[in-house]
This record gives sequence, C-alpha cells and structure tokens, in this order.
Amino acid sequence: MLPMDDRDGWIWLDGELVPWREAKVHVLTHGLHYGSCVFEGERAYGGRVLALEEHGRRLLRSAEIMDMASPWDAPALDRAVEQVIAANGLADAYVRRLVWRGSEVLAVAAPRNRIHAAVAAWTWTGAEGHRKREGIRLNVARWRRPPPECMPHEAKVSAAYAIGTLSRHEAIRQGFDDTLMLDWRGRVSEASGANVFFVEGERLVTPVPDCFLDGITRRSIIRLAQQRGFEVVERVVMPEELAGFDEAFLAGTAAEVTLIREIDGRSFRIGPVGGWLADAYAAYARRPGELAKAA
Ligand code: PMP
Repeated sequence: MLPMDDRDGWIWLDGELVPWREAKVHVLTHGLHYGSCVFEGERAYGGRVLALEEHGRRLLRSAEIMDMASPWDAPALDRAVEQVIAANGLADAYVRRLVWRGSEVLAVAAPRNRIHAAVAAWTWTGAEGHRKREGIRLNVARWRRPPPECMPHEAKVSAAYAIGTLSRHEAIRQGFDDTLMLDWRGRVSEASGANVFFVEGERLVTPVPDCFLDGITRRSIIRLAQQRGFEVVERVVMPEELAGFDEAFLAGTAAEVTLIREIDGRSFRIGPVGGWLADAYAAYARRPGELAKAA
C-alpha cells in the first residue's frame, strides 16, 4: 500500500483543494498534542457518499462537544466531500473529514486557536470483503470504555481512540483480528472501530450505547432488521452471555457487516442472519433510497 502522505490527488484543506503531498500541519498543532481533533469515516459507493448529511451533522456535533467552533457549517463540508470525490475521480471510496484545533498557542487551554478542517478520500473497492464473510476473531480487551462522566462518548474525537489503538495492537500481537471492549462496569460495549450485534434465535441483541458511539451503521442495521420483521433488543450484554449467542457481527462504516466467528475462545456460527444482513446492508449502501421508501 502507498504511504498515506505520498500519493497523487487532491485534498480539501481549509477551503481549497491542495495537491495531496502539500496537505500538511505544523508539529506544534494542538490537535496533535492534546487529541483535539474530531473526524468522520465515510464511504462512497458508486460516487455517492452514504449518509453524507448524517456524517456532516455528527462531525459538527462532535466539534461543538469538544468546544471547537468550525468556520464551515455542515452543508459547506458536505460540498467539500463532493468536491474531493469529483476532483479525484473516485467511485468506491473511503472519505475522511476532520476538524481540529490549530497551532497558535500550545497549552492545554487554547480557546482562541484557529479551527481547521480537511477532507481526503481514496479508492476503497471492498476487495477484502471475503474476510468479512468468513468471520473474524476477537479477543476481549484489557482496556475498558470509560464512563460518560469521564469521556464525551457522543463525540467522535481522536483522543478517545487511544485505548482502541492500544487494545487492537495487543489483539493483533495475540493473533486476533480485532478486539471486543467492555465498558467500565464490565459490560460488552463495542469493538475498536465498530459496533457489535448478536443473534439469539430470531432476535438481534446489541448493547445500549450509553458510553460509546451510537454508530450510523448500527442504526441502519436496526432499521433494516426491523423492516424484515426481526425483533431488535438494545440491552445490557454481559461477557458471560457470549456463549449463549448463535451468531455475532460488527457494524460500522468501514466494517460494513463483518461476521465474527470467535470471541476469546467462544465460537459463533457463520449463519443465515448475519449473512442475510451483510447482503441487505450491501444492497442498501448502494441504494439507500429503497430503505427510506420501504419504511
Ligand atoms: N464505534 C467506534 C469506536 C467507531 O470508530 C466507529 C466507526 N466510526 C463505530 C463505532 C461505528 O460508527 P459508524 O457506523 O457511524 O461508522
């Protein structure tokens, strides 16, 4: 894979398209030192970004929670995404947009630093899709999701990813693909970058997002499943219950629907419900209007 900073193409940075290699920040940037950066991971299917406005709204909501007033409103950033997709001639792609605190003052408090924004996108064909259908293996992380009083869980903020990176690195070292994180109470929460669902008979079960991100994909999966007559239960899930579930899968923008075949020694069937939802989500991602009509 080409290094992320050494590619051809265009990146939108603070209001204009700049050549890919020139989209740089200074080393004394607040966002780098203190994690004051919020971002979105998005996917374009056939040149159209799925849930574009929802991502734009979440980005600005995250910025607001982190006390950053973006000079660009959500529609302006939505247009920037479209501009980047067009300028780079992308069809199936991954999109990153971010808002961060700049470099005028380097101190924990830097309320008057300039707020910056950028949008980058690159081809993502989904060629790795077979792994999502074969099922991945997760360990259970040593690090836990903090309580909502200790971290603003509704903000998709870079700072919150520190424990995700630590946990996922450890999982990979142990030969796993990803990691299942518990929350501070010891309840099942989510993976390092995606929400988790379980199948129990004819029912989907997913943890209550009271201290972790309530993903846009998670909500789409709930709607898709309910439309097809599945019962979806949001409830407390304890790790001791894992052995009782038939199937398990992750849901997220990048993960889409990724089937899970093992969590820390407990096996799950690569079964009909997860497989059907993976197909349903793939169809929805390319034709989201159909879901709206059917609802
Ligand atoms: N949890 C975490 C920690 C994530 O990084 C993501 C990916 N953004 C998700 C859940 C899923 O969110 P979404 O479906 O909005 O991509």
